[in-house]
Amino acid sequence: MIFTDLEISDIRFPTSRALDGSDAMNPDPDYSAAYVVLRTDAGDGHEGHGFAFTIGRGNDIQAAAIASLRPYLVGRPVAAVLADLGGFWRELVHDSQLRWLGPEKGVMHMAIAAVVNALWDLRAKREDLPLWQLLSRMSPEDLVDLVDFRYLDDALTRDEALRILRAAQPGRAAREEHLLREGFPAYTTSPGWLGYDDDKLRRLCKEAVADGFGQIKLKVGADLADDVRRMTIARQTCGPDFRIAVDANQRWDVPTAITWMRELAPFDPYWIEEPTSPDDVVGHATIARELAPMRVATGEHVANRVLFKQLLQLGAVSYVQIDATRVAGVNENIAILLLAAKFGVPVCPHAGGVGLCELVQHLSMFDYVAVAADMSDRVIEYVDHLHEHFVDPVVIRQGRYVAPTAPGFSATIRPRTRTEYAYPDGPVWAAPDPGAAEAAPRPAQRRPGTEVAP
Ligand SMILES: [Mg+2]
Repeated sequence: MIFTDLEISDIRFPTSRALDGSDAMNPDPDYSAAYVVLRTDAGDGHEGHGFAFTIGRGNDIQAAAIASLRPYLVGRPVAAVLADLGGFWRELVHDSQLRWLGPEKGVMHMAIAAVVNALWDLRAKREDLPLWQLLSRMSPEDLVDLVDFRYLDDALTRDEALRILRAAQPGRAAREEHLLREGFPAYTTSPGWLGYDDDKLRRLCKEAVADGFGQIKLKVGADLADDVRRMTIARQTCGPDFRIAVDANQRWDVPTAITWMRELAPFDPYWIEEPTSPDDVVGHATIARELAPMRVATGEHVANRVLFKQLLQLGAVSYVQIDATRVAGVNENIAILLLAAKFGVPVCPHAGGVGLCELVQHLSMFDYVAVAADMSDRVIEYVDHLHEHFVDPVVIRQGRYVAPTAPGFSATIRPRTRTEYAYPDGPVWAAPDPGAAEAAPRPAQRRPGTEVAP
């Protein structure tokens, strides 16, 4: 049995038309997926689905990067590849010519994420388990074989990782049961998009509390007076003890982050997320030191495990926000979960976009069962749009993620959606609603770099 095809499609959702997802750096995202379907000749009907998440322009470049990996899979034996996903990950990441495009960051690394995650989806389907359970039942030895410890040993050795995983072995079954019964805590970012007016903010804050969430997040960083007004509304609506995190999406330099957040400190923000460039490890450490005891969080744009290592070594973050498709897929996220466990820092994943909630819930649940073995002070981000396009969408009940039970990685987008939202020729893009098009011109028709923050 061999891999017969690696099919790629460019799928884009016109989310910018309603300012869903708008923040201080990304005023008009069109949530998109450079989407992969792996096919085999096994005759069992199983396909592996995965994707890289982008926000519109450039999704074609992302798709082209994925296509460059096709020769690694098509024609290869299925069983051998799936049995050694650690070895296969190293092959992809250490391709000497493709590596030049990073190394281990950006478009090429995200392309590897799409393919690696599709392979995990296929393996989980073939083993008839949701991915979180498949990973949670693997031996510590097999799990560490998935991780590339090159560049990590000064902070985490293979032996230390083994000790962490072995220490979490007792109680695995009980924690699985607990997850299936109670789910995993979520917080919602839906009220806080920067493009929403005050009435919508107030209404969505009320809904978040009524829906059982224990935490929301507001976008900040474009205008201080606006932020003070919006934090006042959110604090009044949600109450004094409710957790309200804020997210600047990399808008500030280091001194601005410190002065701006001192102005917002009276509103008791639960954390400040992405205060500055995701590459500025020392800057995050400075911000964390100056603003202590305020907590700093980052990760959705942290390019790889090496940068996470440094953030942890310098004590620069109180929360590690892994993303399912930014680093090179499941394998690299296991490395990051292990690093976070070593440093005792909770992992609170980034989600939203398209399909990121569907994917990352599996990694947090695996973390709880088999790595950190702890759910306290941990939440998974939740954003309530585009889930209807998935075959196995996330389920939120009383502010918690319900543990998925369908086999796979919950990555599959419905075939009809893949046709309708195909860019640029699917019906949604080829004939956009005239009214909507007037309010927000098609991204392809707009000159890049002319956006104005709302
Ligand atoms: Mg964020």
